[in-house]
Amino acid sequence: MIDAQTQLYGVIGNPVRHSLSPVIHNGAFQRMGLNAAYLAFEVQNLGEAVRGIKGLGIRGVSVTIPFKTQIIPFLDRMDELAGKIQAVNTIRREEGRLIGYNTDWSGALGALEDKVNLTGKTVFLLGAGGAARAVAFGLKERGCRVFIASRSPKKAAALAEELGLVHRPLPLVGRPDADVLVNATSAGMSPSDGESPVAKEVLDKGMTVMDIVYKPLKTRLLREAEERGCRTIDGLEMLARQGAAQVEIWTGKKPEIKEIKEDLRRALDPHSAFRYQLSAVGNQGEKKTIDGSML
Ligand code: NAP
Repeated sequence: MIDAQTQLYGVIGNPVRHSLSPVIHNGAFQRMGLNAAYLAFEVQNLGEAVRGIKGLGIRGVSVTIPFKTQIIPFLDRMDELAGKIQAVNTIRREEGRLIGYNTDWSGALGALEDKVNLTGKTVFLLGAGGAARAVAFGLKERGCRVFIASRSPKKAAALAEELGLVHRPLPLVGRPDADVLVNATSAGMSPSDGESPVAKEVLDKGMTVMDIVYKPLKTRLLREAEERGCRTIDGLEMLARQGAAQVEIWTGKKPEIKEIKEDLRRALDPHSAFRYQLSAVGNQGEKKTIDGSML
C-alpha cells in the first residue's frame, strides 16, 4: 500500500524502460514487509536528476548505463571498492549525503562462489567494459589468476596493466587452461542471440562457464558449454545477487535470493505473457497476493 510514509527508491539510466530492477526491488520490498516503492527514471540530465534525488529525499538509487562512472563527481563519498573500480551502480542516501557503492562485483562473485571455490583458480575473463571491470576487481580481491581478453585489445591490455592481470588476444586459440571462463561482453545478448564470444572448441570439459548476459538466459555460449560437459552459470544468478546486495545496503536486511530469482525467471520467460504474482505482507501483517503486468 503506497501512503504518506512510503519510502521511494529507483533506478536512473537511459534507456531504462527495459530494466528488470523494479521487478527485483518491488518484489523484495513487499516480501520483506517494507513500506517502500521502486520506480524507473529515464534521465536526460544527470545533474538535475541528482538534485531531484537530494531534494525529494529518495532513499536509494540504482545506477545503470550510461551513468555508472558519470555519477561519481556528484557523490559525497564512495565505498572503498567502488572507488577502486571507479564505477557506481548503487547510491545510498545517508543524512542527506549521497554515498556510492558497487554491487556488480559482489553479485558476480557470489554467483561464481555458489558453484566454485575460487581459491587458487585461474579465470579467463572476456570483456573490458563496465561489468568486466567490476568482475576483474572482484576476482583480484579473491586472489585468482586472471587472463583477460576483449575484442578491443587496447582496452583489455589497459585493464590488465592497471590490475596486474594477464592480457590475452582474441580469438582464443587452443585450450585456455583455465578453471573458469566468464563472459562479461555483450556478445550473445538479444537480438544477437546467435553470437558467442568464443569458439565451442575452447570450452574444456570440467570448466565452469559463467555468462553475465541474461537476455536470453540460455545464451549460445552456455548451450555450447553444456554440450562440452562444462558446469554453467547464467546471468540471472549475478543479476539477482547484485540486486539483493543493493537491498541490503539500503535497508540493512538480506532479501531471499531464491525468491528474487523466481520473480526474474517469470519476468524473463517469453511464455509468461509478462504477468507475475508476488506474495506480499501488508502493513498490518496480513498476507496478500499482488498480480501485475510486467516490462
Ligand atoms: P559495456 O560497458 O558497453 O561493455 C561491453 C563489452 O562487451 C565491451 O568490452 C565490448 O567490446 C564487448 N562486446 C560487445 N559486443 C561484443 C561482441 N559482439 N563480441 C565481443 N565483444 C563484444 O557493457 P557492460 O555494462 O559491461 O555490460 C556487458 C554485458 O553484461 C551486457 O550484456 C549487460 O546486459 C550484462 N550485464 C549483466 C549484469 C548481470 O547482473 N547479469 C550486470 C551488468 C551487465 P568493445 O569495447 O570492443 O565494444
